[in-house]
Amino acid sequence: MLCDFHFHTSFSGDSDTPPVWQIEQAVALGMERVCVTDHHDYDVNSDIDFNLDFPAYFQTMAELRERFRGQIRLEIGVELGLQRHLAGYLEQLAQAYDFDFIIGSRHFIDGMDPYYPSFYEGRTLRETLNRFFRVSLDTVRALDCFDSYGHLDYVVRYCAGMEEEYRASDYTEYIEPLLKTLIEKGKALECNSGGFRYSLGHPNPCEDILRLYRRMGGELLTVGSDAHSPEYLGCEFNRTAELLKECGFRYYTVYHRRKPEFLPL
Ligand SMILES: [Zn+2]
Ligand SMILES: [Zn+2]
Repeated sequence: MLCDFHFHTSFSGDSDTPPVWQIEQAVALGMERVCVTDHHDYDVNSDIDFNLDFPAYFQTMAELRERFRGQIRLEIGVELGLQRHLAGYLEQLAQAYDFDFIIGSRHFIDGMDPYYPSFYEGRTLRETLNRFFRVSLDTVRALDCFDSYGHLDYVVRYCAGMEEEYRASDYTEYIEPLLKTLIEKGKALECNSGGFRYSLGHPNPCEDILRLYRRMGGELLTVGSDAHSPEYLGCEFNRTAELLKECGFRYYTVYHRRKPEFLPL
């Protein structure tokens, strides 16, 4: 089974899962290596506290890494919520701790969380996604504090009820330069299998974007389930591996001490 390089524990404001449950599940699934990536979304307008307690997090994860040594290799990562005005703060944070891997994700847009319907009110799908991808492109150009760009089009998970259909090709003017920027900066693109859970029938980003990235010469590709509880760890990974091969990939990427390593799909 592929190594899961994106999952959460109770150190994230939106998960109640004890960290050890996720590691035990990864061992049970036969994963050789995983990376825990709890949330840190600083300066956001939310009822949930998305600030990570870094010292406690590192202490707990380092203990688990030792406890499971010989059974599974645990890398310690983080999912940073990217916002342009936080560039200096996030860069400092990335340097301050010994992360193995950093996912950069654009979660909040203009202080709003796309998880909630209010984000879409009074807007068409096209307007909503234009805004989302425009801000995403701007963010990727401005920030360097991450290794892999998380769930590029995940916002479509919450657009299911909207009348228009999402087609990545409608947003090429943003998506293509975003992928180009990742490639030029030596950053990975994440394939997030969480999309399958939202009955989208595809990961985030969708196949069209994964294929485009590969055609453009993109090689760094990380894989994660975004599981917030054990039953979703490694979710649809066999299907994801097949799909990635169909998109032209032969390898995916894992990280240790923020350096990429390639594993066969
Ligand atoms: Zn995320
Ligand atoms: Zn996540």
